[in-house]
Amino acid sequence: MCLPFNISCGFCKNCEKGLTGFCLTANPGTAGAAYGFAGMGPYSGGQAEYLRVPFADFNCLLLPPDAEEKENDYVILSDILPTSYHTTVLAGVEPGDSVVIYGAGPVGLMAAMFANLKGASKVMVVDSHPDRLRLAEQLGAIPIDDSDGGAVDRVLELTGGEGADRGCECVGDQCGCKDHEVPNLTMNNLVKSVGATGGIGVVGVFVAEDPGSPDDLMKEGKLAFDFGSFWMKGQRIATGQANVKAYNRKLRDLIQAGHLEPSRIVSHELPLGKAPEGYEHFDARDDGWTKVVLKTAA
Ligand SMILES: [Zn+2]
Repeated sequence: MCLPFNISCGFCKNCEKGLTGFCLTANPGTAGAAYGFAGMGPYSGGQAEYLRVPFADFNCLLLPPDAEEKENDYVILSDILPTSYHTTVLAGVEPGDSVVIYGAGPVGLMAAMFANLKGASKVMVVDSHPDRLRLAEQLGAIPIDDSDGGAVDRVLELTGGEGADRGCECVGDQCGCKDHEVPNLTMNNLVKSVGATGGIGVVGVFVAEDPGSPDDLMKEGKLAFDFGSFWMKGQRIATGQANVKAYNRKLRDLIQAGHLEPSRIVSHELPLGKAPEGYEHFDARDDGWTKVVLKTAA
């Protein structure tokens, strides 16, 4: 079986509506609980040999008989596959739309997969790491290298000056510009590169307080956002963590049917004991470390 990264009760007001990322029961006083996530309850992280699962009858998703064979596909149902799907839902991607995705990490790459699956007419992926952009291209997206800061112009050029119909934020507040963090960069670039009345879906993580951020505003969870341009363009933004339960059953079935192969982005498999090493490489954006799957001893 497969567990969502967030923990939900199944019977609160939000869970009943399918908004299981914002459960009102699992972490009282807050909306939303998760394994090993700051501010999301007293639950230890899920990258472990054993996991204690609250509300297990609601949270567990049964996997089909090919679960062992497709383990590296189904494991991604826990978090980043539903998260990638969520960004396309939040942005409102529909058939024929042009879509720009900021961030070619695992979530952005799979958002590109979903945008294509939903029949987007054009999918553009913005990043500055060549290995990630190569993968984006292999997944049928137009790679846009932003290492010179020219991504917005390129998106406008590719959309006849209008901007994309939909934009997906798959970076979060630690977005960077030449190795230093500029937390408002991606959001403001999205406002510029999405057209008037377009939708923007934000799944990259922004937190209420980030005392370690080099940016003074972001220390308090704030962002210098181009609200005037956003308002003038009549755009809309939707945000937040994925309601995994709302999607994982359907996404499981797409994997089983062979329509989705999220393991295509897995670059490394490591035993659980080597997890710190995997995190170091991923954190340093070392070439080729796209996605690590941790394996417990059989
Ligand atoms: Zn609930």
